[in-house]
Amino acid sequence: MATIVVADRAGACFGVERALSLVDGVLSAGGTPVHTMGPLIHNPQVVASLEERGADAVDDGAIRGLPAGDRLVLRSHGVVPEVADEAAAAGLEVVDATCPYVKKVHRAAQRLAAEGYEVVVVGQAGHPEVEGILGHAPGAHVVGSAADARALPDARRVGVVVQTTTEKGLLDEVVSELLARFGEVRVHNTICEATRERQEAAARLADSVDAMVVIGGKNSANTTRLAEICAGRVPTCHVESASELDPAFLAGADTVGVTAGASTPATQIHEVVEALEAMVGEGR
Ligand code: SF4
Repeated sequence: MATIVVADRAGACFGVERALSLVDGVLSAGGTPVHTMGPLIHNPQVVASLEERGADAVDDGAIRGLPAGDRLVLRSHGVVPEVADEAAAAGLEVVDATCPYVKKVHRAAQRLAAEGYEVVVVGQAGHPEVEGILGHAPGAHVVGSAADARALPDARRVGVVVQTTTEKGLLDEVVSELLARFGEVRVHNTICEATRERQEAAARLADSVDAMVVIGGKNSANTTRLAEICAGRVPTCHVESASELDPAFLAGADTVGVTAGASTPATQIHEVVEALEAMVGEGR
């Protein structure tokens, strides 16, 4: 008999809840076809269920081919400005589900660029959120490590914005490299608290249980990071759904902790917790 404990901060954040509620409202209202600009969130099960309800994910190359009047939902982690422009030119109705905190990063990057700063985006190169930020400050540099910061070209003034899911430790390392190299460094710390809170809660819980289960998309950077943080402390398995749970993994565990990434809705957490409770024979 094991006890299941869910982290006190786990699962869908404000921005994801908001995006899901917006798209749910659009689909429930009926009317013209609905598309999402790329996957709405990094969660394959949610994306598949939206598709079943009629909202297919399209890439930016497909926008021009969509019939005028169709509705296009912009994803929670943002897009480059050209996407909204192209959608408007194609006669699409745009529903902007970009998280307000991501929009804040866009505005900060835009302002720094307009004020003549060499813009640095601390984050993961290639991540859609970072691509969206770069679209608001063309020519900005992506820095994912202290080594990247050392490799930046010379500049008089450097302005920093941060991918919302970045760990504060990385930002600190990068800023200390920048301060050693550049005359003026202006930093907008745009890290979202939702990520930090989930990481800290996961670490606290992992330190007090025998095993951890982390729920969320394997393509979700913040969920994968939660799994890494937990795995550094205790045996951990990362699942997208209850069907991936392995009873052998739970054998010998008296307490099992559960956490979930910021793109994991509460329904997915409940399903996995119910399956875990059935496997271990006791709820929390
Ligand atoms: S993690 Fe933060 S910035 Fe990203 S979607 Fe959620 S609330 Fe918005």
